[in-house]
Amino acid sequence: MERYPVNLPYVGIASFAKLPVVEDLATVEADVAILGVPWDAGVGYRPGARFGPRGIREYSTRFAFGERGLKPDGYWDIELGRRRLAGVRIVDCGDTDALYLDVGYTFDGISAAVRALAGRGALVVALGGDHSVTFPVVRGLDAAGPFDVVHLDAHLDYTDEVHGVRLANSSPIRRIGELPFVGHIAQLGIRGIRAREDAYRAALARGNTVVTMAQLRERGVAAVLDALPLRHGRCYVSVDIDALDPAIAPGTGSPEFDGFSHALMREMLEGIAARWPVVAFDLVEVSPPFDPGGLTQMLAAQLVLEFAGAICEARAGSRGS
Ligand code: MN
Ligand code: MN
Repeated sequence: MERYPVNLPYVGIASFAKLPVVEDLATVEADVAILGVPWDAGVGYRPGARFGPRGIREYSTRFAFGERGLKPDGYWDIELGRRRLAGVRIVDCGDTDALYLDVGYTFDGISAAVRALAGRGALVVALGGDHSVTFPVVRGLDAAGPFDVVHLDAHLDYTDEVHGVRLANSSPIRRIGELPFVGHIAQLGIRGIRAREDAYRAALARGNTVVTMAQLRERGVAAVLDALPLRHGRCYVSVDIDALDPAIAPGTGSPEFDGFSHALMREMLEGIAARWPVVAFDLVEVSPPFDPGGLTQMLAAQLVLEFAGAICEARAGSRGS
């Protein structure tokens, strides 16, 4: 008996886009693996991103269309005039385990889960969680390296330490920059009057590309991407939801005004996927307690599907199919 012949968004179990759940990572057979990383102990001001994976899943049911999960032939993008994610196997792998106050246990588990999924050949899509989780996620991709990094954020996240704390959400890009298999780092969309000059100088000293929001708008996405010296030819992408304007993404701990529109972010993600193979990506800092209308969670779910669609389309194209 078919349980949900109609299957409206609010009916049934809210896995990501109502896709199949596979929690035994050793058995995953998929092109794309959604992995929740519910952790926000790295936040210095407004916590809540620990509820991000659940919230994004809840609102992603809007994109489950009329059947259980995405239709086998994916979705039709009216602006592109073609289908995306057709035949792509996507599964929801549940969450990494978390233990409050135990960053070692939690981060080791994150790296192990990412390593297991990448080893199964899946594109890992990590849903934060605060931005501190990007370090253990990238650390788990050691076998996929070397690769470059594109970091989309209002903030540099390049602080070395805060009174000895080195793994908070202000430091993940600094930490991944220390990994031997991480090459160039491009930090795009940076803005706000709380940026730290020492972190900026340190990012430049490492050789990172730093492009502010105003510079990005003036030069345009294509020109900025074309100028990036990504020497490994493939990249990891970290998307902090606060890269987007708080008018459309208010549900986050550290909003900064004058951010990406959805159109500009879409152009950015399409541009990245068209230029370089993407080894994995994360979307972090969605904080449901600050998102009572659900707008940010809805946007996050859509960005995941759009970016995964662009990445998988580029992969299929490069195989000549
Ligand atoms: Mn960040
Ligand atoms: Mn940020």
